[in-house]
Amino acid sequence: MAQSGDNAAGVDNTFRKKWNREEYLERAREREKQEEESRFSSKAKAPPIQRKPLKHRDYEVDLSSRLGKTQVVTPIAPLSQQAGYYCPVCECVVKDSANYLDHINGKKHQRALGMSMRVERASLQQVQERFEVLKKRKVTSSFSEQDLDERILKQQNEEEERRRQRRERKKEKKKEKAVEDDAEDADADIAAMMGFGGFRSSKK
Ligand SMILES: [Zn+2]
Repeated sequence: MAQSGDNAAGVDNTFRKKWNREEYLERAREREKQEEESRFSSKAKAPPIQRKPLKHRDYEVDLSSRLGKTQVVTPIAPLSQQAGYYCPVCECVVKDSANYLDHINGKKHQRALGMSMRVERASLQQVQERFEVLKKRKVTSSFSEQDLDERILKQQNEEEERRRQRRERKKEKKKEKAVEDDAEDADADIAAMMGFGGFRSSKK
């Protein structure tokens, strides 16, 4: 019994030693692997660190300027003249407005603009300054009312212009149709003159 106990102790000891060695070897390997990985990823992740944080847009997104317009689309036309929304930054065409918005708010586009998707934390001062700007805007509301009047006027003028163009187009179409009818009549006249007036009149 005592002998077997000694044996067991002996086995246990060597086992523990071996296990420790294995463990530390394993840890060393792990550390090496991590160091290598961090070296590798620091190379790969270097650009994102240099990228600027996300900035808000300083222009208005134009989604509707080409609405209702007719355009001939050929597959050999440059991308900017293809159907859909063209992004000059990424040189790609997005098929509809929702996807276009997704695109310009997306990672790929922001990356092309040199921005990461990280948002900079605003400082207290920045927030206070922003409040000041907004307050001033409220105080000068008479100015913004004038602004509103101007905008309404502009919109009315645009609407007027659109109506005028529509009328013009209708007139143009009528004229084209009249010319066609005239041509048909002339053909009929000539046919009648030459003695075979049956082509058109037979139906009447
Ligand atoms: Zn883009």
